Amino acid sequence: MREKNDVVIRVVDLRKSYGDVKALDGISFEIYKGEIFALLGPNGAGKTTTMEILEGLRKPDSGEIYYFGEKVKVIGSEIKERMGVQLQDPAFFDQLTVKETLEIFRGLYKKGRDLNELINMMGLGEKIKSKVKNLSGGQLKRLAIAVALVNDPDIVFLDEPTTGLDPQARRAVWDIISQMRSEGKTIFLTTHYMEEAEKLADRVFIIDHGRIIAKGTVDELIGSLNMESVIVFELRENSIENSKELKSSGILKVGENRYEISTKNLEDDLSRLFDLSKSMGFDIENLTIRKPNLEDVFLKLTGRSLRD
Ligand code: ATP
Repeated sequence: MREKNDVVIRVVDLRKSYGDVKALDGISFEIYKGEIFALLGPNGAGKTTTMEILEGLRKPDSGEIYYFGEKVKVIGSEIKERMGVQLQDPAFFDQLTVKETLEIFRGLYKKGRDLNELINMMGLGEKIKSKVKNLSGGQLKRLAIAVALVNDPDIVFLDEPTTGLDPQARRAVWDIISQMRSEGKTIFLTTHYMEEAEKLADRVFIIDHGRIIAKGTVDELIGSLNMESVIVFELRENSIENSKELKSSGILKVGENRYEISTKNLEDDLSRLFDLSKSMGFDIENLTIRKPNLEDVFLKLTGRSLRD
């Protein structure tokens, strides 16, 4: 059982509007010590707004925020000493080296960790003397995460830490985040990559239009679909795309020529699909079967894809 003092952050009914846009429409959650908590949602869902309010960079219109069990009105320096922040688009000085950049941020805090060790942990050992302007996208992200760790924080905020990275660089960042958890850090992560949430998060809260629409562990969320597997295939004949037969068979169009059937009984649904292809005279191409994932959870709840 979790104890009350295991709660690092608690947020109650947080609201924030920009003009007519309700960026946060009353969200509540708790983040527990030592967990990776992911806020997953499409672009514009309200993830950065939530994170930046908790970092003290934006003011909410209303709602309550508790840090380490205490209600806070302003996120002051005592809390900031205990938090690490990786912004989505950090601004570093191009002419400084990796080490110099970290030294500057280290100087902002009372306590901190050994910078050489941190640089090695981030896989930036060979780049220690390289100027920021010569770093690749993946190396810059890793530098931004290193900056978030200079003060050896208890809670680390990672805002879309792998957006724009290629798969290999993304995996390197995932390894670093897993390592941070094994060091006992509490991590608040925002992402619009469901693979990232699936791979890393202990608990996932799905946000859409400023509201939490689902929450739980990855297994709980996927389990709630009550679905065994998903049949994925392609159809070239556009003429049947809107046919009644297709829709009434639970076949969902998910992309250009791409279709899916969520199934509880794979054998039955496969034979129904083949019967339909025979009776309607269409060819099924590139058929594969996959396990349901968080994308399916989002699709079921909103009727939209996370990637829209
Ligand atoms: P992204 O993944 O694109 O960063 P997000 O989930 O982080 O998206 P937010 O950046 O929090 O979403 O934005 C939530 C909503 O608030 C969006 O509709 C956005 O356009 C709007 N918004 C955010 N910041 C501002 C601002 N400073 N002024 C006006 N509108 C804003």
